Amino acid sequence: MMLDVSALTDWIERLAVAIDEEQAHLSELDAAIGDGDHGANMARGFTAVKGKLEQGPVETPAALFKLVAMTLISTVGGASGPLYGTLFLEAAKAAGDAQALDGASLHEVFAAGLAGVRMRGKAAPGDKTMVDALTPAVDALAGDDDLRERLQRAAAAAARGAEATKPLVAHKGRASYLGERAIGHEDPGAASSALLFATLAEAAMEPVR
Ligand code: ADP
Ligand code: MG
Repeated sequence: MMLDVSALTDWIERLAVAIDEEQAHLSELDAAIGDGDHGANMARGFTAVKGKLEQGPVETPAALFKLVAMTLISTVGGASGPLYGTLFLEAAKAAGDAQALDGASLHEVFAAGLAGVRMRGKAAPGDKTMVDALTPAVDALAGDDDLRERLQRAAAAAARGAEATKPLVAHKGRASYLGERAIGHEDPGAASSALLFATLAEAAMEPVR
């Protein structure tokens, strides 16, 4: 199985819906260890993405990822905008001129995206950031089984990774100012990264006609 640009567009639309539904929750998580705007930041970005997609279809996975990247970079205030922007921009580069992505290429694309996030934000796993959800998700995409299985694994791994940020002290971003007071709270960016993989798995399980 492969995901073409219409399946990937369906993913981004599902992600926009999920971000909208989880907006209050993401901001609540951010209120506990940051400045309370992560839900609003992400919702603003993905509402703008939806608007751009309504102007007409994109031709390739790379074009879609680039549109998402540019829109997030220009509309999301806060640390998460340039970081997710970088993820999608590096994903676009890795996708090249492919018309559709299989399991192996999705692994490559998200590994490139994660490498970009790590380069830009300088966070390592365990620093209590989105990297803690993205890293196990990318690892779970490796293998030689079907794309759907890989994506199910990645979604579960991202959710576990986000959950596992709770006991951590933050070493990057606003939450790092709190020291031990960040302990016990899930990182909001890790939570939004889990939504990214949850909706991708859903889009693969329920393909668009
Ligand atoms: P801001 O912190 O500027 O208000 P957001 O609230 O939108 O931006 O996003 C906060 C999230 O960004 C954090 O929960 C964390 O996951 C992520 N983040 C912040 N700094 C970094 C970094 N240097 N590397 C990776 N992720 C980061
Ligand atoms: Mg914030």
